[in-house]
Amino acid sequence: MPHRPVVILTHPMPEDWIAPLREAVQLVVGPAGVAGVAADLRPHFGEVEGLLTWLIDRVDEHLLAEMPRLKVVSNLAVGVDNIDLEACSRRGIAVGHTPGVLTEAVADLTFALLLAVGRGLFTAAEDARAGRWGLWQPDAWLGTELNGSTLGILGLGQIGQAVARRAHAFGMRVLYTSRSPKPEAEARWGAQRVPWETLLAESDFLSLHVPLTPATQGMVDAEALRRMKPTAYLVNMARGPVVQTEALVRALQEGWIAGAALDVTDPEPLPPEHPLYRLSNCLITPHIGSATHLTRRRMADLAISNLLAGLRGEPLPHQANA
Ligand code: NAP
Repeated sequence: MPHRPVVILTHPMPEDWIAPLREAVQLVVGPAGVAGVAADLRPHFGEVEGLLTWLIDRVDEHLLAEMPRLKVVSNLAVGVDNIDLEACSRRGIAVGHTPGVLTEAVADLTFALLLAVGRGLFTAAEDARAGRWGLWQPDAWLGTELNGSTLGILGLGQIGQAVARRAHAFGMRVLYTSRSPKPEAEARWGAQRVPWETLLAESDFLSLHVPLTPATQGMVDAEALRRMKPTAYLVNMARGPVVQTEALVRALQEGWIAGAALDVTDPEPLPPEHPLYRLSNCLITPHIGSATHLTRRRMADLAISNLLAGLRGEPLPHQANA
């Protein structure tokens, strides 16, 4: 009988998504509703060779030290900020992630949020439902249109470029700040690379698409928010800690900017009593950027492919570390 390595899936997933994994390995599934790699899984740590993680699971030196046979960590996300990549590399552990398959779904949600926050959809819809829809008035529920507005994109990677493509079709001027120039995006969608300070000062909508790293953590702080136009909107589709939450609360309360739409927050989940929920110019969605039937299934397929390749000692289809 061929060797069937032990693999931990940190939390349950739909059975039809993980069927190929069950066939190939001895699968141990962690509990639902608990962030992180649950302590009850500890009896399996000594023999586990593969770990399939979610973005709510921290993989650090401490955990790796308890898993001497681990060959591969496969993260069900493109972002790998929950994993200590250097610690994995030092131990020869491959780290997989799921770029590309989620790009269009995340770009779609970015546009849903741009439109929703720019046109005040959530407050207008709530007003209608609550009986505050009086006679039609020419100056009620006025918003900002995308056509002719300037979109600033921080991080013109796969998702940033899919957003730029949509922005071009919507008649927006596209500016971006990224580590490296993107000549193809400049040629195809008229995107123009500018310094961070210019992006802040000129954007009517500022959309965040960088990974969370030491360089991007807290990049949108009080100073950055004060540089934005008072009529501008911030959309965070990246990771919560790219924005300093307390500074954002002040910016929204005191009118430094017009509004914000956040698919990611710091902390996550954002507790129900958080002041951001009480601000009518702030729209919050619960980290649903890639949450479509098709995309989540593709992410699962890719995460399983990465995991199985790592168990065989082969290069991963998408590897995040060297
Ligand atoms: P990607 O293709 O790697 O793009 C990231 C871009 O950010 C790259 O263009 C990179 O520049 C740029 N960048 C990195 N550090 C920077 C810095 N310090 N300053 C300026 N630009 C910087 O990744 P992606 O697939 O587009 O995903 C981007 C991020 O979106 C993920 O890491 C994840 O955190 C987030 N995300 C969120 C959701 C959600 O549900 N809300 C879903 C998926 C992804 P270079 O090209 O020069 O390297």
